[in-house]
Amino acid sequence: MRLTLVTVLCALLGAASWWRGGPDGTVAAQSPVPAGTGHTGSAFRFNKVREGVYHAVGTGALTVVGNSAVIVNDDDVMIVDDHVSPAAAHVLLEEVKQLSPKPIRHVINTHFHFDHAHGNQVFGRGVDIIGHEFTRQMLTDNRSVGMPLFQNYLKGLPDAIADLRTRVAAEKDPAAKAKLSTQLTSAENNLASQKEFRPVPPNITLKTEMTLHSGSREIQIRFLGRAHTAGDVVVFLPREKVVITGAFFTAALSNMSDGYVDEWVETLENLKKLDFEVVLPGHGEAFTDRNKIDYFQAYLRDVWAEVGRLKREGASAEEASKRADLTKHRDHFPGIQGPGLPLIGVQRIYAMMDAAPRR
Ligand SMILES: [Zn+2]
Repeated sequence: MRLTLVTVLCALLGAASWWRGGPDGTVAAQSPVPAGTGHTGSAFRFNKVREGVYHAVGTGALTVVGNSAVIVNDDDVMIVDDHVSPAAAHVLLEEVKQLSPKPIRHVINTHFHFDHAHGNQVFGRGVDIIGHEFTRQMLTDNRSVGMPLFQNYLKGLPDAIADLRTRVAAEKDPAAKAKLSTQLTSAENNLASQKEFRPVPPNITLKTEMTLHSGSREIQIRFLGRAHTAGDVVVFLPREKVVITGAFFTAALSNMSDGYVDEWVETLENLKKLDFEVVLPGHGEAFTDRNKIDYFQAYLRDVWAEVGRLKREGASAEEASKRADLTKHRDHFPGIQGPGLPLIGVQRIYAMMDAAPRR
């Protein structure tokens, strides 16, 4: 019953918003303002990497989780990925107005995960959402919403809020208390926004590649192979030599729960064929070091080998997740503190090895 009411409510709110469309029919954002947008100061830092090309990174004032990219073209604006919630996407749209008054016409989802595509609902009918066919499948009929990655995230939010409340109450140092209070408000707002979330799939899909020519800007959208999911795309600007990589290739390590860890290495080989100088990752800061592809490939190869070794020894996925030792990659990935891999990723690798033992 509740779901039905929410659906009806969303439909009514959506219908009520179209009148805000501009004279050309473009609708920048739904009204009214989503729950949970409250924050102090800027929610995003827009790092300019080329003329009209920005990497949008959260400041911590609002929970946004992933990064987005903003491409300002001659007549319009394009957004790549739209964060973790309708609130985060709404605030992104508000702050993008500082960069350009031009209308947003396209949003690209690099993949279906919640931290990259759960702002889709704030874009109106004048905005096309582009993604891989697989991304559309996963965001249709709530398929992605029921998966462990998102469910674990949602289930963890109330505990995280309770923990922050306790810490705010106990903190004596005023500066530390203020910082924790910001985190608490941000977490509470995120939870409020999650309650309004509904999946919206891309309305334009691709299987291998697509090129948009917007004024003088050429924007290539490429599927390079299965990797972090079965439908990651990168956005490549050949003139500017910039590639936007979502969670397929980041500044650090990526979640493997929906990944194809063995194929990922080959897919990264295809990334090397693109002539880029700057990477705008979906997590972490922009970087220029192409050697990071090699480092990540070496890590993935060792993950596959190490987890496979433990599996052959008879270790359960739980044991393997504690024992898998990737510490030799610590120099390139300082996040590695000691042996161990996230269980959700190890379970995925076990399932794939069981499905195709000779992969
Ligand atoms: Zn992801």
